[in-house]
Amino acid sequence: MYDIAIVGAGPAGLSAAIYGQRAGKKTAAFEGYTYGGQIVNTPEIENYPGIKNISGFDYATGLYEQATGLGAEVIFEQVLEVTNENKIFKITTSGGTYEAKSVILATGAKNRHLGIEREDALTGRGISYCATCDGAFYKGKAVAVNGGGNTAIEDAMFLTNYCSRVYVIHRRDEFRGEKEGLAALKKKENVEFVLNSTVTELLGEDRLSGVRVKNKLTGEERDIAVEGLFIAIGQEPDNKAFSELAELDKAGYIISGEDCMTRTPGLFTAGDCRTKQVRQLVTAASDGAVAALAACGYVDKL
Ligand code: NAP
Repeated sequence: MYDIAIVGAGPAGLSAAIYGQRAGKKTAAFEGYTYGGQIVNTPEIENYPGIKNISGFDYATGLYEQATGLGAEVIFEQVLEVTNENKIFKITTSGGTYEAKSVILATGAKNRHLGIEREDALTGRGISYCATCDGAFYKGKAVAVNGGGNTAIEDAMFLTNYCSRVYVIHRRDEFRGEKEGLAALKKKENVEFVLNSTVTELLGEDRLSGVRVKNKLTGEERDIAVEGLFIAIGQEPDNKAFSELAELDKAGYIISGEDCMTRTPGLFTAGDCRTKQVRQLVTAASDGAVAALAACGYVDKL
């Protein structure tokens, strides 16, 4: 029986594990993929207070080692269901069933897909959602990045170091991402911005050979020859499995305030998976602390 079971070992989940374990609670984080969540795909973090510059992978590894070094367990199994009966949570995973007195949902969010034909079939064959992971495969080649947020800007900047040409395709002419990064990207000689445009077709048979884009203002279509398309159009939560215990908003985020509470006593939530204004590394880590301390308080009163 765990005092605190955490679903997700990203920055929110592992921060919660550190706080839970340090408070003397038997804590486990369940993770279906790898530790670190989305931050492992970030080449450089430069806005985490107290750390001038660190790669996402190094940050996540530090967090993982800190949590496990304190004695928290990280169990690499996919959580399929969480139920609650007589104040005991039952966590069903791909590997078994576990019990806990409290649960923190820190499930993060997943990359949004464009939803166009053959997107899934060409994933790994020219389509990627992670420039840091796959960028090196496109050395000397022309690629495109789709999106206008910080991820797209950072991905494009990263790819300019490897690729012969980087097309940045964005559906508007204004960017959501920070001005500073955008200004630096604009200075790169091998970048071309394709604005007010959406990707309408993926070209190529077995592998991606190009993208067809449509200018939303003029209706004009253009084929761009690229071997890689990096899709960076935001994230979506995946909390359907928990909708019996926690209320979800229309987009699927767990409804919760800054206290990280859900409608079920003993069930808390932390990080990008919950309703919030600012989804940043620092707010995910902060949520982890808030949720874990709330869980400790709940367990102490049982
Ligand atoms: P985001 O900020 O939500 O931006 C998504 C972008 O994709 C937007 O430009 C959006 O266009 C576009 N988009 C959404 N759906 C689309 C569709 N179906 N087709 C075409 N384009 C579409 O996502 P993100 O860049 O992944 O960032 C997520 C969060 O992480 C943000 O809060 C961001 O600030 C943060 N982040 C921070 C850092 C950092 O601080 N270093 C780095 C990476 C990410 P519109 O603008 O027209 O809506």
